[in-house]
Amino acid sequence: MTEYSDEAVAAVREALKRTTALVTAKQLCRHCGGRMLPGIATDQTYVGGTPDFPGDAHASTFSAGGPGKVIECRKCENCGWSVT
Ligand SMILES: [Zn+2]
Repeated sequence: MTEYSDEAVAAVREALKRTTALVTAKQLCRHCGGRMLPGIATDQTYVGGTPDFPGDAHASTFSAGGPGKVIECRKCENCGWSVT
């Protein structure tokens, strides 16, 4: 059976504590400290349509289109604060 020195055990405990603190900091809301839930946000792109009538100088119809963008984000379950 392997014996670990107190120092080795303490070092591992310290490293674990630091890792946990890092993960926790990432998952907590910066505003209220609530839990951050993983999610995605869509960033809709808009494209201008073609002129409705011949002779129109500008496009009067705008519709949601294009590829759009899906962004990974985290959203606070408490206050709704989201980070990307
Ligand atoms: Zn929050």
